[in-house]
Amino acid sequence: MGSESGFDAIIIGCGIAIAGASLAYFLAERGMTDILILEREEQPGYHATGRAAGVLVELDFVPSILELKILGGKFLRNPPDGFSEYPLLRRSGILIMFKGELWDSVQQMIPDLKQAGVVVNVLSQEEVTPIIPVVSPENFDGAVLLPEDGHIDANELLWSYIRQARRRGARLHLKEAVLGIKVESGRVSGVNTAAGEYYSRRVINASGAWAGNIRKLIGQTPVRLTPYRRTIITFAAPEGMETKDWPLAADLTHELYFSPESSGMLASPMDEDPMEPCDARPDELVVAQTVERLKQLTPGLAPKSIIHKWAGLRTFAPDQAMVVGEDPVVKGFFWLSGQGGSGIETSAAVGQIASDLIVDGHTEVMDIKPISSMRFGET
Ligand SMILES: Cc1cc2nc3c(=O)[nH]c(=O)nc-3n(C[C@H](O)[C@H](O)[C@H](O)COP(=O)(O)OP(=O)(O)OC[C@H]3O[C@@H](n4cnc5c(N)ncnc54)[C@H](O)[C@@H]3O)c2cc1C
Repeated sequence: MGSESGFDAIIIGCGIAIAGASLAYFLAERGMTDILILEREEQPGYHATGRAAGVLVELDFVPSILELKILGGKFLRNPPDGFSEYPLLRRSGILIMFKGELWDSVQQMIPDLKQAGVVVNVLSQEEVTPIIPVVSPENFDGAVLLPEDGHIDANELLWSYIRQARRRGARLHLKEAVLGIKVESGRVSGVNTAAGEYYSRRVINASGAWAGNIRKLIGQTPVRLTPYRRTIITFAAPEGMETKDWPLAADLTHELYFSPESSGMLASPMDEDPMEPCDARPDELVVAQTVERLKQLTPGLAPKSIIHKWAGLRTFAPDQAMVVGEDPVVKGFFWLSGQGGSGIETSAAVGQIASDLIVDGHTEVMDIKPISSMRFGET
């Protein structure tokens, strides 16, 4: 076992998409227990996973992501017995406001959403203001409320994946970055770290924002990914305003979401600035824009001061769909990347699909063409 004879699989990265952690769990559940997860940081979930708003929103304009969210939601609401110590989803609700053409498109999606089992209520302007009194009806034409969606306990989800995978034998090495990937005759054979070499015929790229850079370690591949920064601020709710039972409210036309959270409220200007993978920090200009947008759109909620601010990277392929499966060029090198802004809510579905592809070469979970790494073709 281990470095002498090689691992069944080596996973690069232990975020939630929890990617590395969810995959380790699903592989271990399928009996592949000789798994090594290599994580560069001192703790799992330090990057995108630890910085997310962490909500389940079963609405999306990218059809494959919508399907994955609905599948992921089923797991969050009803995880296997003994999987987690605490509930994974708080059904605090999601309310999304739309205007103009966006509103027309969303209304057309409603029958299909209901058909897929999503609980969705269509609200007029008059029905929104009693729920979120700080919004102005002239800013939107209508809204949808997803009452069964809401906040995910991302930390509990991440650690439950890790705990269960470890219980079956998976190993997690922290503070150990993958520095090189060995490819022999077009097939992966292992990885190098500062601590030495590890052998495996399966290496999985679950390195989040670094997935594009890890790509460079295997030579030619057509898969492309770009990290984009997103910012969140927290602030106290105005005195006398009871906000803790509000759903997360998003205005997609004016690009703003806000939600109650432990220290009061959080808000994001839904920024998407492309950048190199890094330990992302908030840009002061974007922080100021967030406050300005709150002042304009929700004057009653405008923050007097900011309590915390942070940023994280959301990583996308050019078509916004995820990238899952074996590399089109290098055999045994698998992608579990491009989770963008939905890696947590979709993690159970994507982890299961990736484990099917690694073990069986196919999956029955869904038609994976839109998310397959093979869609990029050969270089
Ligand atoms: C502000 C914000 C809000 C978000 N809101 C939501 C939301 O509401 N719902 C939702 O589902 N998602 C949300 N997301 C997206 C979600 O956070 C990501 O899709 C998900 O966390 C990605 O997980 P990951 O495991 O791919 O990446 P990460 O969590 O970044 O994990 C990748 C890991 O790989 C490690 N790594 C990188 N290179 C190496 C190497 N060479 N060797 C070893 N380890 C390496 C990194 O250290 C890192 O820990 C949000 C993201 C942000 C930034």
